Amino acid sequence: MLIDTLKDIVGPQGWKQDAADMEPFLSEWRGRARGEALLVVAPQSTEEVAAVVKACAEAGVGIVPQGGNTGLCGGALPSAGQVLLSMSRMNRVRQVDPNDYSITVEAGCILADVQNAAAAHARFFPLSLGAEGTCQIGGNLSTNAGGINVLRYGTARQQVLGLEVVLADGTVWDGLRTVRKDTAGYDLKQLFMGSEGTLGVITAAALRLWPQPAELTTMLAAVESPQHAVELLAQLRGKFGDTVQAFELISGLCLQLVDRHVPDASIRVDSAHPWYVLTDVETPGGAQRIEEAMMAEIESGRLLDVVVAKNAAEAGSFWRMRHALSEAQNPEGSALKHDISVPTGRIAEFVDKSAELVETMAPGARVVAFGHVGDGNLHYDVLQPRDADGTAFLQDGEALTTALYDLAVALGGSFSAEHGVGLYKRRHLERYRAGIEIELMKALKQTLDPHGVLNPGKVI
Ligand SMILES: Cc1cc2nc3c(=O)[nH]c(=O)nc-3n(C[C@H](O)[C@H](O)[C@H](O)COP(=O)(O)OP(=O)(O)OC[C@H]3O[C@@H](n4cnc5c(N)ncnc54)[C@H](O)[C@@H]3O)c2cc1C
Repeated sequence: MLIDTLKDIVGPQGWKQDAADMEPFLSEWRGRARGEALLVVAPQSTEEVAAVVKACAEAGVGIVPQGGNTGLCGGALPSAGQVLLSMSRMNRVRQVDPNDYSITVEAGCILADVQNAAAAHARFFPLSLGAEGTCQIGGNLSTNAGGINVLRYGTARQQVLGLEVVLADGTVWDGLRTVRKDTAGYDLKQLFMGSEGTLGVITAAALRLWPQPAELTTMLAAVESPQHAVELLAQLRGKFGDTVQAFELISGLCLQLVDRHVPDASIRVDSAHPWYVLTDVETPGGAQRIEEAMMAEIESGRLLDVVVAKNAAEAGSFWRMRHALSEAQNPEGSALKHDISVPTGRIAEFVDKSAELVETMAPGARVVAFGHVGDGNLHYDVLQPRDADGTAFLQDGEALTTALYDLAVALGGSFSAEHGVGLYKRRHLERYRAGIEIELMKALKQTLDPHGVLNPGKVI
C-alpha cells in the first residue's frame, strides 16, 4: 500500500498523518483556501524525494511539493487523495565557494538562511522579500520570486547557475553546475523555475553570489504622483547607475494603515503626502552625493520631502514598515488583491486609469497600492468600502479584477508579476496567454509529466 511504502522511505520522523499534525501544511497564508491530503511526507535527501515521487507515480497519486507555504496563489495546497511533499527537512547548505561567488543549497533552505550563509563568507545573496524568514529557496525558484532587489540583481531565476531536479517518474536530473558560460543545448534549468512544481521537484540549487554592497543609504521620499516617482528613479539611475538597489512606491494610505494597525512597524514621519518612495542606494564613501542629489530633486519640484535614515536601525525601521503593508490592511476588511506589472514608464497611466475603474465599478472602495516600481510591479489591492459586506464585496469583485488585469495587459504588462499562477489565477492564464503560448505550456507539461502526477490542477 502506497502510504506504508512512503512511510518506509522517509522513516518515522518524516511523515504526518494525524489531522491536527497536517493542519499547518493544509491552510494557507491568507486563509483563502484549505487543502486536504492523504499524507504529509518530508524526505531528508534527494534519493528519498526520488523514491517518494516514483512510488506516487506508480500508484497514480498526485504529489504536491511545498516549501515554506507562503505562496499567495494556492499553489502548494493539495486536494483530497494527494500526497503533500514537504521540503522542510532538505535544508542543508552543501557548499559555499567565495572565490567562485557561488553557493549550493538544498531546496528546503529558508531564504534568510541562504542570505546568512553567504554573509558568513562576506558575500551577498540578493533575493529579499517579506516572507524571507519562512519561505524556502525551492519555493522562491519555483515561483520565480521577485522582491525588493530585482531592480539591481534580477529575479530568483537570474540567481541560478544550476539545479538538481527530481522528474515526474522519480528520475534525478543532476544539473548542479556552477559554471557561468555553457551553450551546450537547451537551458533545461529554466523550465523548472516559475513552473510551480508542475514539471519537477527542485531538490537543490547552485546560486550566484555577489559582492556585499559597500554601504547603503536608505531614504523615504515624498512625491506628488507615481509619475514623479518614475522620473525620480530615472534621474537617480542616470546619476548612480545600478547602485540604486531598491525603489519601492508606497501610497500615503499605506503609511496611515501601518500607523493605525501595526504600531510596532509605524515610523515617525508625516504621512499626509499622497505617495512615498522607499529607496536603498549603495553609497561607497558616504551619503553626501546622494543627499545633494535629493536636495536638487526637491528644488526641481519632483520631490516634496525626504528623510534619510540616520543609521542602520532607522533604515531597518523603514523596511519593517514596508514589510508590514499586507498585515496593516487586514483589520480594514476584505480586499481584492492584484499583483500586476506594466512597463515602468506606464505605471502612472495604470494608476490613473485603474482609479477610474475602481470609482466606477466599486464606488467607495479604497485603493492600497505599493510595489517594486523599478520593476513596473504594483501590488494593487482594493479594500472594501467601510461598513460594506466583505464577503459580498469579494464575490462581486471578479469583474473589477478582470478589468484591472485587462488594463495591465493592454499597457504591455502582466496579470501576475511575481506571485505565480497556482490555483487562483489559472483562468486568467487561459485568458491572457491563449493560443500557441498556452498550447506550448501544455505540450511541455505532457512531455515532462505525461500522467499528471506533479501538482495536479495547478498553473494549467
Ligand atoms: C508577507 C509576504 C510577502 C511576500 N513578498 C513577496 C515578494 O516581495 N515577492 C515575491 O515574489 N513573492 C512574495 N511573496 C510570496 C511568496 O513568499 C513567494 O512566492 C515565495 O517565493 C514562496 O516560497 P515558499 O517556499 O513559501 O513556497 P510555497 O508557498 O511552499 O510554494 C509555492 C509554489 O512552489 C512549489 N514548490 C515549493 N517548493 C518546491 C520545490 N522544491 N520544487 C518544486 N516546486 C516547489 C509549490 O508546489 C507551489 O506551487 C510574499 C508572501 C508573503 C506571505
